Formats: sequence, structure tokens, C-alpha cells
Amino acid sequence: MTKTTQTGSDVIVIGAGLAGLTAAVHAVQTGATVRLIAQGWGQQIVTPGWISVCDRAKDDVIAELRGYAALHPAHPYALAGDEGMIDCLERFRAITKAIGVPYGACVKAGHNLRLTTLLGAIQTPLLAPASMVSGDLTGVTGEILLVSFTGWRDFYPALAASNLAKQGITARAVLVDAPGAPQAWDLWPVELARRFDDPALRQRVIDQLRPHVQNAAKIGFPAVVGLEQHVEALADCTQQLERPCFEIATLPPSVPGTRLSNRLRRWLLRQRARVQIGHPVVHGIVENRRCVGVDVGALGHTNPFYADQFILATGGLYNGGIQSDESGRLWEPIFDLPVKGPGGTGREKWYHANLLVHRGHAVHRHTGLRVNTRMQPLDADGAPVLDNVYAAGHLLTGFNPLTDGCAEGIALATALKAVQVALALEAQKSY
Ligand SMILES: Cc1cc2nc3c(=O)[nH]c(=O)nc-3n(C[C@H](O)[C@H](O)[C@H](O)COP(=O)(O)OP(=O)(O)OC[C@H]3O[C@@H](n4cnc5c(N)ncnc54)[C@H](O)[C@@H]3O)c2cc1C
Repeated sequence: MTKTTQTGSDVIVIGAGLAGLTAAVHAVQTGATVRLIAQGWGQQIVTPGWISVCDRAKDDVIAELRGYAALHPAHPYALAGDEGMIDCLERFRAITKAIGVPYGACVKAGHNLRLTTLLGAIQTPLLAPASMVSGDLTGVTGEILLVSFTGWRDFYPALAASNLAKQGITARAVLVDAPGAPQAWDLWPVELARRFDDPALRQRVIDQLRPHVQNAAKIGFPAVVGLEQHVEALADCTQQLERPCFEIATLPPSVPGTRLSNRLRRWLLRQRARVQIGHPVVHGIVENRRCVGVDVGALGHTNPFYADQFILATGGLYNGGIQSDESGRLWEPIFDLPVKGPGGTGREKWYHANLLVHRGHAVHRHTGLRVNTRMQPLDADGAPVLDNVYAAGHLLTGFNPLTDGCAEGIALATALKAVQVALALEAQKSY
């Protein structure tokens, strides 16, 4: 089949995770023409939807990560630079506000939030959707009412309440009929969220809850309070129940991640960016150390797309950005970039003997692309492999996305840095 030549863009972003989507937003905001190409959505579609920057920080989060970065110069935070960290968080809050799914932070400035999970454990991200921030347990006194749906398998609020009690937080559980569904057992969170969009169905939940509010200081729902009408749905619950209502992250799929993904995609399209989700980039077209285009899989053939700069945000081992096989070989499939691994032959160094090991397994911490401070992937000698390809997010080595509690901050910080370098914007702070 004849290949179609496409008009070139200034930037092609590969990947629709947090790193790829925010890289595309930054590039669009500079006035660049942008094409985002992704095989599918990124991990945000199954994550809680919050932004972990340095979960373990007890006080000032940015100060903690600055200290950490100073001690670990190969960590992505050190490479991206701490100024970019603050900048990318402000930009993320601005874009989420603009698209109608605003993110917020702890009332104690610069501190992590304290958010309950469905099990009543406490997680400590820096930013979260505003609907979750209302449930911040920082300094909370008074009883929390936890709501779930009769027969729904995904959330047992009595269990969460008893676990919260062990941490000094008083919570009470209540079960009501799910909106429009007497048989709630198998309902997916996104389906429940769609039902919450419907004022009549939502009203039935609110009416059932009213007698149970009593002395509750706040009311926590699983994160299914509306999909397209989320802000209105949550405000309606808060207004009618006369208590702050908040959302608790559910099991996957993630409604907050879905809201964010859908709205970022629509925003990009409104800015005339091209967004192709569902198309794998098969390989890079490279001439003299420069990438000139990428071949993108279509039905039975590939199409080339051309650009001046390329941001690779393909998500590492979790999402196809890095691949492996039973021999322990690790490879980056688009540009065949050198992949750092845990070492050894085979996979014997990938995993610790114990499954639950505090620092996590070597395959998570030590697998990924090595980059310089310009986010350029490096060869074994430390030299950039390609002049105009920049990598961001989970794809990078030097941190453990499972145990370090900073993977989302890294996605945001390295995406911003990659765009700034690619578009030569480092000196311009105000674009
Ligand atoms: C259930 C879960 C919970 C998590 N919780 C936390 C947490 O609490 N705190 C924390 O810090 N981190 C957490 N993480 C990790 C964190 O969310 C991820 O590290 C981060 O979202 C990764 O973003 P990314 O954009 O780098 O990559 P991804 O989200 O993996 O996106 C990669 C993108 O690249 C695309 N892609 C891959 N290959 C190709 C190709 N050949 N062509 C085109 N596109 C391609 C994919 O389709 C996808 O769109 C969690 C992850 C999961 C799965």
C-alpha cells in the first residue's frame, strides 16, 4: 500500500499518560503545532487520579524532594531541576481548573494531603482532584460518614471505618441503593458515575442519605459522583446534605482519571492539536542522529508523521514503552534506545526473594532510559543518542514507581522540562 505523507508538526508527543498529555498541553501553550499519538490511554485511567510528588514528606514537600534530589543526582527530579517542579505543579493546577476538573492541595501550604483509601488506609499525595481534597483528614475532628451502595463489591465502608478508627479517625458507614440499580454488585465505577450525572437518579441517593447525616462533619462517597456533570453533582450533594461531600478513590477503572483524560483530550482538540489515541508508533524514522518522523500503525499498514521535535512518554515496562522477554532482554521498541536494567543475565536480579520488600524490586527501580538534564536519552558512554528526541515520565530509570510515591510528580516535571528544552524555552518563564 502506498504511504501517505503527512504535513509535519512542530512537536510529536508519543503517549497519552500524565507525561504525554501534559507535554502536549505545554507545547500547545507555546503556540507550537502538536500531534499526540498514543496506543491507548495511560495509567491515569486506573490510578486514584491524585498527584504523588513525595508521599513520604512529613512537612514541606518541595524542601524534602530538593534534599533528596541533591543527594541523588541521577534521580529524575534532580535531572529535571527543582524550579521546574514548582512550575509544573502550578501549570497542572491551572490547566485542570481551565478544563473544569480542578485540583487542589492541603490547607497546610506545601504539605501533603491525608486522604483515606477504600480500605481506610491513609495516602499522602500533594495534589488531588478538588472532590478528594474536601476529604483531607489533616486536622479533622468530628465524625465522617462513609457511603456505599447495597451489594456493591467495590467498597465496604464499615471496613474502612474500622481501619480509620485505629488511626484515631471516627467514621460511620451507611449503605444506600445505588442510583437506578437495585443490583449494584457488578456495576463499574464509570457506569455509576454516569448515573450520578442524572439529577433524578442522584436525588434518590440524596433522599436515602438524609436521615443518616446526623452529626457527620463530612460525607465520603466512592469516586463516582458524576462523570460529565461531576462538579454539579458533587455540589448538589453538598448543598442538599448540608455537609462537605468528598470522593474516595475506587478500584479501577478510575473515574477521576477518566474525567481528566477526556477533558485534556478535548482541550487539546479545541486548541487544534491533533490527537490520535489507539494508534501505536511502530518505529522512528531517523536520519543523521535526528528523528524526522514516526511510522504509526494503521489497519494493515503504517503511516508516517513528521515533526521537528519528539517527546517520548511511552510509560516504561507498564505500558509498552519498554519491553522484555523471558530471557531478561529489555528493549525500547520505537527508537531502539539503550535501556538500563537491573544487570546480570536473565532475570535473576529483577526480583528480591521476598515479594513485599520495603524498597521494592530492582526491576522497577533500575529499569528505564537514562537521560541527561535535557531529557535526552543517553548511550552507554553518556552521550545523547538522538538530537531531537526527549523522554519523560515512567519511561525513565532512577526511581521506583511502586514504592517511592513520586511517579506522578516525575511525569509532570520531566514532561515540562522536555518541552522546554525541545522548544528552546528554558530562558522564557512566561509562555
Ligand atoms: C493502579 C496504579 C496506581 C498508581 N498509584 C500511584 C500513586 O499513588 N502515586 C504515584 O506516584 N504513582 C502511582 N502510579 C504510577 C503513576 O501513575 C505512573 O507512573 C504515571 O501515571 C505514568 O505516567 P506516564 O505518562 O509516564 O506513562 P503511562 O501513563 O504509562 O503512559 C504511557 C503512554 O504511552 C503509550 N504508548 C506506549 N507505547 C506506545 C507506542 N509504541 N506507540 C504509541 N503510544 C505508546 C501508552 O498507550 C500510554 O498512553 C500508579 C500506577 C498504577 C497503574
